[in-house]
Amino acid sequence: MKVVCKACQYTSEIHKQTIEKELLRLKNSSTVMADEALYETRLKVCSDCRHLDISGTCMMCGCYVMLRSALKDNKCPKKYW
Ligand code: SF4
Repeated sequence: MKVVCKACQYTSEIHKQTIEKELLRLKNSSTVMADEALYETRLKVCSDCRHLDISGTCMMCGCYVMLRSALKDNKCPKKYW
């Protein structure tokens, strides 16, 4: 998947495996991770959101929603979750 950062126009290739590997690393820290139910609820909201692009990036903040949703204290930039 090709991704362009909205802030700096940096272009890179990112793979689902890269995101999953990072999530696995973070899952060892229950102090920063959202629980599974919260994570799934957030992803459902994102999947129905008009600001989500085909690469899984939120076009409002530039984050991969799989990562943004996984961290407990993160918020949706549009306050949808
Ligand atoms: S983080 Fe918020 S604005 Fe971005 S895709 Fe998800 S629901 Fe939409």
